[in-house]
Amino acid sequence: MITYLKSMGFFGLVAAAFVGGSGNGAPAPKKLNVVATTPDLAALAQEIGGDAIVVTALAKPTEDPHFVDAKPSHLVTLNKADVLIEGGAELELGWLPPLLDNARNDKIAAGAPGRIVASQGIRMLEVPATFDRSKGDVHSLGNPHFLLDPKNAEIIAADIADHLSKVDPAGAATYQANLKKFDATTEQKLVEWQAKLAPYKGAKVVTYHKDFVYLAARFNLEIVETLEPKPGIAPSPAHLAQVVTAMQGAKAKIILVQPYQNRKTAETVARQTGAMVLDAPQQPGAIPGIATYFEMMDHLVQVIADALEKTK
Ligand SMILES: [Zn+2]
Repeated sequence: MITYLKSMGFFGLVAAAFVGGSGNGAPAPKKLNVVATTPDLAALAQEIGGDAIVVTALAKPTEDPHFVDAKPSHLVTLNKADVLIEGGAELELGWLPPLLDNARNDKIAAGAPGRIVASQGIRMLEVPATFDRSKGDVHSLGNPHFLLDPKNAEIIAADIADHLSKVDPAGAATYQANLKKFDATTEQKLVEWQAKLAPYKGAKVVTYHKDFVYLAARFNLEIVETLEPKPGIAPSPAHLAQVVTAMQGAKAKIILVQPYQNRKTAETVARQTGAMVLDAPQQPGAIPGIATYFEMMDHLVQVIADALEKTK
């Protein structure tokens, strides 16, 4: 992909994409243009920005946030952004840096008020003792899938409110009021979600990627194995054989998968262990009608609780 970005063909497309863009004398947009790398971050921005912003997510809800297909349209979006929200901790390492290099937008440069790195306020889990990207591990700075812990969503929402207030001081009161509302709803929902999952405390589950670690920690579930031997590395037959043994030993009956993961692999393991494969998308928009962070979490908690009840 990086090779593709550097090819002349790509720059040709870039040049074409900028033709007709915001030229000299174009009226300044009234709403802040907020770009998020992923739909979950976009959904948080929408909660805080409300009507004062227009939000665009670069990744599709059904796309792996580690491996997003970089497109010329992404460059146009980034070029026009007033604010960029990224997950950070190398979540987007494989695709965002080359886009930013070519987007020519100082407003979202590293360190600018218009640049938000969500991971910066988060107490990261699974931070490795030694930094090693050599084997293709895409979590070499720790686990970047922290939004499934609602407490982390609150931290990031506060960060978004602060940055939006700096970029648009006139809207600061609105952003802070929206943050208060978001926090109140989150606290109320958290009680609900914890109550729903409380009967399954300590339940053992398997995931395809290490993307449910924060949810498991917050809601007392135990992840016994992942189908990937390391984050970002495709499952191998030898590793899957280990997973089957571990699942049988732990009596784990659920394998959680995302739309972009290899469901067939999960189904094969499920057949060998009498487990079920559960579609549990983490991104708002992956399922029609589920657009907000709260709707996404409501759905996720519900399908997990239902599956744990069925396989009890
Ligand atoms: Zn990951």
